[in-house]
Amino acid sequence: MKIPFLDLKSQYAAIRSEIDEAIQGILDRTEFVHGPTVRAFEAAFAEAHGVPHCAACNNGTAALHLLMWALDVGPGDEVITAANTFMATAGAIRLTGARPVLVDVEEHSFNLDPGKLEAAITPRTKAILPVHLYGQPAEMDEIAPIAEKHGISLIEDCAQAHLASYHGKQVGGFGRGGAFSFYPGKNLGAYGEGGAVVTSDAALHARICALRDHGMPQKYQHAEWGHNYRMEGFQGAVLGVKLRHLAAWTRQRRQIADWYRESLSGIPGLCVPLEGKDRDHVYHLFVVRVSAESGTTREAVMQGLQEAGIASGLHYPVPIHLQQAARDLGYRKGDFPITEGMAGEILSLPIYPEMTREMVATVAARLRELLPGN
Ligand SMILES: *Cc1c(COP(=O)(O)O)cnc(C)c1O
Repeated sequence: MKIPFLDLKSQYAAIRSEIDEAIQGILDRTEFVHGPTVRAFEAAFAEAHGVPHCAACNNGTAALHLLMWALDVGPGDEVITAANTFMATAGAIRLTGARPVLVDVEEHSFNLDPGKLEAAITPRTKAILPVHLYGQPAEMDEIAPIAEKHGISLIEDCAQAHLASYHGKQVGGFGRGGAFSFYPGKNLGAYGEGGAVVTSDAALHARICALRDHGMPQKYQHAEWGHNYRMEGFQGAVLGVKLRHLAAWTRQRRQIADWYRESLSGIPGLCVPLEGKDRDHVYHLFVVRVSAESGTTREAVMQGLQEAGIASGLHYPVPIHLQQAARDLGYRKGDFPITEGMAGEILSLPIYPEMTREMVATVAARLRELLPGN
């Protein structure tokens, strides 16, 4: 049995008639950029996250950039984020002209360590940007009071965490705003590129809407310099259809994670993700760790899976501070030991809503063979 890392074809097959109809509607109405279908998606997405406003845009990096731009983050400022995240989080900070300041993560959650946050705050800190990595909400109860105490804007990178919640409250609503990505492989994926910013702040929302469209609050009235970060009509149509299925798909991801946890327990040297208390992890990724007690290496396990037709991934093999692009930040090897230690041991197993119990059992059985212990 071949097991891919994700399976967008079978997802499309399951919703084909709805998708085809929605795309045909865009063609019939020549609603190619923004328009009523994108607006309807914005309203539905905001509601799904329990916030009043959503501004759709053309990708998740643009969403992060718009959010910080609208908060006047710029040159001379610092924005604090997690050392373990996708490059785009830091890249979007860089786009504003501000400097990304990294904070190491917690060993058990892979998310920003609130205990190390205060030491990273300086008079130049303009925003704190936790990432709900792999689909698990960061420790917002501890992070939010620190941001508040210092009078610093709290914003969220929700690119991997659509519908994830913490104490029953959806991500995106904890601070000034939350940025989402609809890259095809994300939990809610467009058929192309897409992103969005959600916020409870009407004035901030209005500025984001203007900035994504050349700084125009009204047609041909340019209040300030902006950019073109608009969403295409086709993407709004696809996302509107898929959003109706997202809650069910998310339940299925959680089910698959439970199956994995059951079938992978007690394997020496294999650490399965712990789910923090009072939060709904949405399992964008199911990341295990292969430690020294396994008697093997992460590379050997990956290879063994591949030989059995099972795909796996690394999120992420090289931390941001050790990337060539980030040399200008002046960090060195050893600066973020938890993140660096993870990078050599993590392995992302296939997880997607269409995965069956049998497929999970196949992956688990293969892992048992590959990890005999020493
Ligand atoms: C995907 C992702 C982004 C960027 O989104 P794009 O749509 O690819 O621009 C930002 N942050 C994180 C954590 C992501 O996973």
